[in-house]
Amino acid sequence: MSDAIAKTAPESGSAAVQRCIVPACAAAFGIREQIYVCPRCGGPLEIEIPLALLKSGADLRERWQARAASHDPRDRSGVWRYRELLPFDGDAPVVTLFEGNTPLYDAPRSAKYAGLTALRLKHQGCNPTASFKDTGMTTAVTQAKLLGARTVVCASTGNTAASLAAYAARAELQCAILLPQGQISPAKLAQSMDYGAVVCEIAGNFDDCMRLISELADVPSIYIANSINPFRIEGQKTVAFELLAQCDWRVPDHVVVPGGNMGNSSALGKGFDEMLRFGLIDRLPKISIVQAEGSAPLAHLFAALPASEIVADAALPDEVAPVADPRTLATAIKIGAPVSWKKALRAVLHTHGNIITVSEQEIADAKAIIGRDGIGCEPASATTVAGIRKLVVAGKIHTGESVVAVLTGHVLKDPDYVSHYHRGTLAFETVTEQGAAQSVPIVGAFRNAPEKVAANKAAILKSLESRR
Ligand SMILES: *Cc1c(COP(=O)(O)O)cnc(C)c1O
Repeated sequence: MSDAIAKTAPESGSAAVQRCIVPACAAAFGIREQIYVCPRCGGPLEIEIPLALLKSGADLRERWQARAASHDPRDRSGVWRYRELLPFDGDAPVVTLFEGNTPLYDAPRSAKYAGLTALRLKHQGCNPTASFKDTGMTTAVTQAKLLGARTVVCASTGNTAASLAAYAARAELQCAILLPQGQISPAKLAQSMDYGAVVCEIAGNFDDCMRLISELADVPSIYIANSINPFRIEGQKTVAFELLAQCDWRVPDHVVVPGGNMGNSSALGKGFDEMLRFGLIDRLPKISIVQAEGSAPLAHLFAALPASEIVADAALPDEVAPVADPRTLATAIKIGAPVSWKKALRAVLHTHGNIITVSEQEIADAKAIIGRDGIGCEPASATTVAGIRKLVVAGKIHTGESVVAVLTGHVLKDPDYVSHYHRGTLAFETVTEQGAAQSVPIVGAFRNAPEKVAANKAAILKSLESRR
């Protein structure tokens, strides 16, 4: 047995069920049924963990803490360390790359830029394939092994594919990924190729790829690993546990995340909710989601909600109007029809958070400021700091409150964007209200282009002097 495939200890997993989140349905299904949406009503599914079987929250905290010093592969994983709250039995064939264990950084420059006294950044780009997707793929691919799948597939804007390809390789499963042709960062595409996936470049956008995926859902040997898959959400929710452990279980006032397909925000919402119900924490942070202006279906819906529906247990709308032609340079969140919007909206309403948009210019400058803290991230991640700045101006976040922004991907995921920003050649291709093509230049407030310097000491010193 390789160290990538370890056995879990007997836990509460087998008593978990898959439950439809539509209140009028709420049907429950077995944990090993290969379904992605409710077979009865088509609603989204979520895993229900039987918290009643567990001992006290204090006991769990101690157990999790002790595992940090262990060399057992499951304990070294920042996901499987929390296995009491995962829907797997002790004999599950855990597929791990030691995901999670990501740093929580203080970011003083970003804090100042956003108008806060302090700001912490939880850097999920420090995962094995450099995005938060790994925390969910370890559980989804483990479930694929349990179900006896031969092939795992996903549609992706790049990071999901890179992550699935890596975990499939570890698990010795075939992997197929569907990507919108020409819309993926070359760095992300390179990862999928290196991990041996079958890379299908589809003539269409991400939403077209998602539609194709749902047509593959009835092939029994194929297992779908998009975030509609509730087992991915289970892994991703552990980010909330790890974050709170890093905060010594003191709950931050706000947790802010980018929103694309909305799996991440849904998962954090679930993680915090379980901790509250299990007595690990005594209140919830406000979860806020930030979308790019040109790809913001949920922010539009949220802005149109009457105040009476922005309450904790409001009935959720039946539909979100999709954005037909989503546009943003932050390709990881270039999604017009997010599959997990309902769970995400529920989490935001439940915690009294917000859903807002930021412009391409705001994303680009926020990304550069995060860089100045010595913490690189990809454009989608920077929506958080840009969004926090707007929420501070709007009085929705107060200067002295404790705020955590979740950075979702690594700076090297999209080096072209970074280079264009700093050289002053970044432009956003969009359309005017009349439908005409339009190229909007992004003029970086924190541009830092290389300069040509003569090959001598005096020239270098002069250059340094001029930039003091
Ligand atoms: C996937 C991804 C997102 C969006 O997350 P969702 O769960 O789809 O909302 C944001 N940033 C990065 C870097 C990602 O890879």
